[in-house]
Amino acid sequence: MIDQPPEPALTPACMQVLLRVWDYLDGRLAPEEMQSLRTHLDECAPCLRYELFQASYMKAMASRRATRGAPWHIRAKVTDMLDSAMAEAAEL
Ligand SMILES: [Zn+2]
Repeated sequence: MIDQPPEPALTPACMQVLLRVWDYLDGRLAPEEMQSLRTHLDECAPCLRYELFQASYMKAMASRRATRGAPWHIRAKVTDMLDSAMAEAAEL
């Protein structure tokens, strides 16, 4: 049997971080929710590590998106789909 340290207990505040970290990083939460998550991140090392990981993941994805556009045939297909969705919406 391998001796491992026990998993730290997941508190309701930790659950909020897991569920809302993307909205938090985008600044899409209400000011009091932003503050509540920030306060928890300041006192919970595992959640802070999780938040830092998600933030760097988000940054990596954003830089990749900025340097590599979609191939032309994918772009054309998406444009077509958007055009027909717009036409359908206009008919409603
Ligand atoms: Zn936590």
